[in-house]
Amino acid sequence: MKLRPEILATPPYRQGKAAADDAFKLSSNENPFPPLPGVVEAVVASGAFNRYPDASAAALREVLAEKHGVSPEEIHVGSGSVALLSQFITAAAGPGDTVVYAWRSFEAYPGLVTVAGAESVQVPNRGDGAHDLDAIAAAIDERTRVVIVCTPNNPTSTIVTARDFDAFMERVPADVLVLLDEAYSEFVTNPDAVNGLTLTGRYPNLVVLRTFSKAYGLAGLRVGWALGSVNILDAARAAAIPLSVTQPAQSAAIASLGLEAELLERVDRLSVLRDSIRSALLEQGWRVPDAQGNFIWLATGDETLEANEVFLSHGIVARAFPGSGIRISIGEEEAMEKLLQASADVVGSLPAGHPARQLG
Ligand SMILES: *Cc1c(COP(=O)(O)O)cnc(C)c1O
Repeated sequence: MKLRPEILATPPYRQGKAAADDAFKLSSNENPFPPLPGVVEAVVASGAFNRYPDASAAALREVLAEKHGVSPEEIHVGSGSVALLSQFITAAAGPGDTVVYAWRSFEAYPGLVTVAGAESVQVPNRGDGAHDLDAIAAAIDERTRVVIVCTPNNPTSTIVTARDFDAFMERVPADVLVLLDEAYSEFVTNPDAVNGLTLTGRYPNLVVLRTFSKAYGLAGLRVGWALGSVNILDAARAAAIPLSVTQPAQSAAIASLGLEAELLERVDRLSVLRDSIRSALLEQGWRVPDAQGNFIWLATGDETLEANEVFLSHGIVARAFPGSGIRISIGEEEAMEKLLQASADVVGSLPAGHPARQLG
């Protein structure tokens, strides 16, 4: 069979491991809470399941546009922000072109770039796990079509500050598309963090990506959205698989947007829990990047597989990146106790001077 060699060399997307009955699945940054009250009812009521959805998600775009002070044409809805990433990359980059992004970052990026026929340029994170924006800007050349900035960065949990982002945008050529992936922005508590929704109109080459999968707890329904210039969004619309955002997903998103107070309450509980977990880890002797998503990052490096076994033996299914580190989602309170028992065992077993351990 004649298949594309670069596709044959690309491993299929690896999903976070399923958990055994008595274990906690903290491997996919899912929300431990169910959808917000009334959302499931709205999905059922959306009901004409024999009919195709509204292809342009007009009602949802209108609600989002109203909320963020833009026109509905400046909003584009996709079946998850991964689908949106794929559309923007495909619309902008093909054979001979490059897409620049930090590494380690979201695992979906390399595959999406390859499928588009383009090449990845991965720029190593700084020692603290944060994007090295200077190096990313320096990696842009005449072949570059897209730059992806992920904040908070999955899996290292670090943010890009508004100041650094502005300085970065000054260095990016105006004809290079910048995708600001803000899948976890609702969990951010650091006031210095960039917020793409406050930058509307400032950078015509900037597209901001958001999702209902994480804070809103709708990962299973697949809906995300993009905000940016109409001409760029139109290109993504042209690259989209038509009708892939279902009506139940659109209805769930609209119902969720009407429940701001409930959302904030939930997000707040998770962010507070995250901060307390991080403090406890610091007390155990870990070095942990400032966590601004709904997950924490332990840079276990060469000890990752052994460390992951310890977490598994405590009933914690985390996401291990061999040779790099372990990402653990903030989930149920009971899971967090087990997590801290496991992490205490692991930190004690790390060699002195290990980068995930505090000095002294
Ligand atoms: C989870 C995640 C997404 C979005 O996922 P969808 O479910 O496709 O909306 C996008 N970017 C990053 C960095 C993520 O972690």
